Amino acid sequence: MDKRLSTPKEGREKVIPKERKCPECKGVVKPGRTELAYELAGVKITVKNVCASVCSKCGQSFISGRVAEDVNRLVNRITEDINSFVRTQPQVSEGSKEVAIAV
Ligand SMILES: [Zn+2]
Repeated sequence: MDKRLSTPKEGREKVIPKERKCPECKGVVKPGRTELAYELAGVKITVKNVCASVCSKCGQSFISGRVAEDVNRLVNRITEDINSFVRTQPQVSEGSKEVAIAV
């Protein structure tokens, strides 16, 4: 599976290019923002304006491991807070919990 194209332009393997290629469509991936949607314990959480690399061709977004970790931590904390809040609010109807965070 390691088919490397030996075109003249690809001859600088040690240099990490500033513009990465999209694994989906080989389009140019540029810094941008994305939106991440989670659904945990029946609560929908949308995190907006997450730093990401976005493909300029197909629109696919990629986030780094560090960003993913940060967002996961945020979402987990929010889920806990929401759930403990919901426990004090017996009237809150099921299936209507939704949170949107824009940073
Ligand atoms: Zn793409």
